[in-house]
Amino acid sequence: MEKLVAGVELGGTKAIVVRGRGSMITDCETFPTTTPAETLGACLSVLSQWNEEQPLDAFGIASFGPVRVDPTASDYGHILRTPKQGWSNFDVLGVLANDLDCPAAIDTDVNGAALAECAYGAGRGCRSLVYLTIGTGLGGGILFDGKPIVGALHPEIGHLRLKRSRDDVFAGNCPFHGDCVEGLVSGPALAARFGIDPAQVAADDPRWEFVASDLAQLFATLLLTLSCDRILVGGGVATNRPELIAHARSMVPQLLAGYLPDLDEATIRERIRRPELANRAGPVGALMVAERALA
Ligand code: ZN
Repeated sequence: MEKLVAGVELGGTKAIVVRGRGSMITDCETFPTTTPAETLGACLSVLSQWNEEQPLDAFGIASFGPVRVDPTASDYGHILRTPKQGWSNFDVLGVLANDLDCPAAIDTDVNGAALAECAYGAGRGCRSLVYLTIGTGLGGGILFDGKPIVGALHPEIGHLRLKRSRDDVFAGNCPFHGDCVEGLVSGPALAARFGIDPAQVAADDPRWEFVASDLAQLFATLLLTLSCDRILVGGGVATNRPELIAHARSMVPQLLAGYLPDLDEATIRERIRRPELANRAGPVGALMVAERALA
């Protein structure tokens, strides 16, 4: 039988605590993300109760970033400098895992989702996989041979700066960079660009052309840099605007200008697509981070 594991998907707005085996979630509790004491306290009381009922084999966290995910680092499991009040330098892994008395690990929320999609969703059979989420921010998890990339930190795809449409005058809204890709295509960036809720903007508004072009630049950059088998595009913006993603994808062959000759339009549609696990990717990802702690 598969191991009994628990996980926390720690997001910017909510924390989801789950228990299960493999991709099967048997228990789930959700708490708003407020202060570390309040949010992690609520998570910990659920985890402690579960661990008393039946000892957990492992525990995993899939967290918002930036977070130290290198197990050899002295501050492994800490949130790094963040605008989120009270979370900078907070030892999330230590607080949640210390009393559980089982192997534990932490990774980014997007790496968790990538692991889940690679095992059970639209990334099955891929050697290399990028999982993008475009919502309140833009994040990306990257797997090679089924393993998340861990370097000095973790990839920060959202803050790449790419070539923009010549006529686009929108300054972008990233507090660090202005017009990095997160500052151009995340939900808040779209709201700033359009001046209204982007869900209310007509699909034929010409300004979507700029957004599609920015996304196409991101896709082409990822294909060129990582030579990835697949790019999965999730998150609220991608879910609400499938035609935007499809249009951006259709621009990629022209951007590549024949340089990756096997990437014709049909192949691009295969390579850049929707995830399959929807909102289960994050929680299942947290369970998979737990399983990696056992490996
Ligand atoms: Zn940025």
